[in-house]
Amino acid sequence: MSLLNFTHREILSTIFNDFSNDFEFTADGVFRRITPPLCPDCGFPMSHNGFNTYRKGHLGEANVGRYLCGTCRKSVEEDRSFWDDLKTGFFSILADICLRLRLNHASYELIEEIMSFLYPRDKDTIRNMVQSATDKLEVPPVKDIQFVHYDEQHPKAGRNQKYRLTLLDSISRQVIADELFDSKDADTIEDFLRRNLDNHKPVFIVTDLYRGYSEIFKRIFGDKATHQLCLLHLNKLIVNDFPRKTNIKQELLKYRLLNIFYNREHEVEYLSGLIEEENAMLQKSRREYKFWIVEVRRQFREFIHDLELKRRRESKNLEMRTYYEALKNFKDLHSKIDSFESAVRRRLIKIEELWPKLTAFYFVDNAPATNNAIENYYSTSLKTHRKKQLEENGIVDQIKLSALNRSGLFEKPKRTLLDAFFMFIPFLDTG
Ligand SMILES: [Zn+2]
Repeated sequence: MSLLNFTHREILSTIFNDFSNDFEFTADGVFRRITPPLCPDCGFPMSHNGFNTYRKGHLGEANVGRYLCGTCRKSVEEDRSFWDDLKTGFFSILADICLRLRLNHASYELIEEIMSFLYPRDKDTIRNMVQSATDKLEVPPVKDIQFVHYDEQHPKAGRNQKYRLTLLDSISRQVIADELFDSKDADTIEDFLRRNLDNHKPVFIVTDLYRGYSEIFKRIFGDKATHQLCLLHLNKLIVNDFPRKTNIKQELLKYRLLNIFYNREHEVEYLSGLIEEENAMLQKSRREYKFWIVEVRRQFREFIHDLELKRRRESKNLEMRTYYEALKNFKDLHSKIDSFESAVRRRLIKIEELWPKLTAFYFVDNAPATNNAIENYYSTSLKTHRKKQLEENGIVDQIKLSALNRSGLFEKPKRTLLDAFFMFIPFLDTG
């Protein structure tokens, strides 16, 4: 159906569908009752008495009939809700367009520029539109929370340090809560978790390794919480234990550590094959060794890259170790702990201490081992390179918009901006 084929009469009958045949739309474009109503004050019949004109820039104008009581001089205006509805219909679509642009990280400057092609609005008006539209939307609650991810971000709002605390449902990938605070002390985190999780239900919760969340979980859930530390975060810490430019011996040790929980057998094998050669090269001049190691590192990077491409082609993730493989790999390394550099010794001691929390996922069906889900959520909801320059309201908007998006609220529009605009055709300002 194209509204372009509609006559004015048809458009008007759509608009005034709610009104009975008692109303007319005169040749002069006045909307009024055919027979004027009775006076609300004295009850005598009123008479037609001109109209009031309502204008909306670029869209048109409506003439709304007035009635006058000949007895007591009372003046009354006809109901103009049809006009307000037309405007709401148009501007809610405009607001929807702005929301989607914001969701995709468009700045208010850019939105203002785009709006100048559609319906010019200044930046402040757009900001108000986005904020009031966002406030009206409700994020649907997630049911049956069992497996959750918890993480933090530390965005800056102007010069103020803010803390973004996020809970994500692991199965539905929906946002349970995503809030901004001025502090991330234990009390703030505890209150955030208490408000957003049911502490009567058992919970499996994944966090990073940075701080002792365990005590907070214990206070809230008693022994009903299973705490998993993110294995990808552990891997990042392992990589950071080594200098950026390693020799082959260090690189091999790094990959043996990464090999505890993920299958890095190919890399370990590749590097093991270079150890003897490195020992021989170390007998030669510094210059010769340096020349050699630079080339060998380049080849290894290429080798890793090819492995990654192969996994991507086959749509596979890095293979996880079974519990017994992980335990065996860890014990092998731990038995040689005295031969390693201090950063690696400390890492192994830490892994041993955290072992139950690193391996909790092995003992719960379908439990996640990483906070990958929340990392992905963060990377789509608030770009790291942008989060520093956002204002506080901007951050809150952005957080809520992505939560709404994840819960499927932004579906295909029911009407286009043109559909809403065509309804104004009978009212176009022809003067
Ligand atoms: Zn009267």
